[in-house]
Amino acid sequence: GQCVAVCPVGALHEKDYTWEVVDMLANPSKTVIVQVAPAVRVALGEEFGHKPGTDVTGKMVTALRRIGFDYVFDTNFAADLTIMEEAAELKSRVVRYLDGDKDVKLPILTSCCPAWVKFIEHNFPDMLDIPSTAKSPQQMFSAIAKEFWAKEMGIKREDLIVVSVMPCLAKKYEASREEFSKDGNPDTDISISTRELASLINQSGISFNMLQEEEFDKPFGMSSGAANIFGRTGGVIEAATRTAYEWITGKELENVDFKQLRGLEGSRVAEIPELQIDGAPLRIGIAHGLGDARKLLEKVKNKEEVLHAIEIMACKGGCIGGGGQPYHHGKFSIIKKRFDGIQAIDSGKKIRKSHENPYIKELYEKFLGEPMGEKAHELLHTKYFSRKK
Ligand code: SF4
Repeated sequence: GQCVAVCPVGALHEKDYTWEVVDMLANPSKTVIVQVAPAVRVALGEEFGHKPGTDVTGKMVTALRRIGFDYVFDTNFAADLTIMEEAAELKSRVVRYLDGDKDVKLPILTSCCPAWVKFIEHNFPDMLDIPSTAKSPQQMFSAIAKEFWAKEMGIKREDLIVVSVMPCLAKKYEASREEFSKDGNPDTDISISTRELASLINQSGISFNMLQEEEFDKPFGMSSGAANIFGRTGGVIEAATRTAYEWITGKELENVDFKQLRGLEGSRVAEIPELQIDGAPLRIGIAHGLGDARKLLEKVKNKEEVLHAIEIMACKGGCIGGGGQPYHHGKFSIIKKRFDGIQAIDSGKKIRKSHENPYIKELYEKFLGEPMGEKAHELLHTKYFSRKK
């Protein structure tokens, strides 16, 4: 099945967590922070009468403050962080490959979609060494919040509650995976969907459309345009290409718009002529929907298709079409408008490359060291497990 309205993985976990959020907000001993995924802001407005694709970021931030969150942060910050680690991994694999290392695993696969990760763990257990080991933005955010920010703020780990607002039902499952916790305390405490946020706004008696627009809190409220496009199919790999290009070639990338990576066909292959491998362009595969993903992976496995990087998202259109979004009933026109809405946010940003986000640079200088370094490895990378029955 495909993630059209309800995700097959997330469906098992489709539980309304709004009450748990309210409960935590009412507990004076807890500091409750929230992170919001890129796809949420171009769809949440639909629940309040806006057209699909309308960017309601400012009102959404104000609403989250009114609901009572102590800090309103952006998963996009962590999407930039994901790109730092994924692009470093792509660069290291490409460099090793060009040095003649026969054991290097290419293509590299993106790993931010938990439904897709679970799918590969079940169906392709012999290919678990190809996905990037970078955690998803949701999990990177929470690891950094609990291990770095909480300490800076003098908050005990158990007193910091991280809530995520996701377009996704599988993110609830991801948050519950044991490897994303420390001594029984999860990194992400509660994950709610875009629809659950809309209902929380309504339950709180907030007139969404009357709200002023406010900005995210610092430091995790700042992000590049590259982070925004995580919400649509092809976006993660486009963001990674922007950074990997500069890190592999040592040259500045002037035109960040890799238009060949954009589109809504279920599966496609695009070439990046600016990045040559063995005298041929870097080849990227993109699939969304698990049926198309399976076909693409089988081609790679049977060596019918030679690719260097692959992005797979379980939902049609990527996270903009996620199972936790306002219902779109599989309507292509709605997905397309959300896609355009996300693209407009990216195009309107001054900083459009993840590695140029000043707060990301500061985080590496102050705390993480180098991408893929020891600290980054400990907090930002993960492992995969065979789940073959
Ligand atoms: Fe969740 Fe996005 Fe994956 Fe859909 S594509 S399951 S919304 S992470």
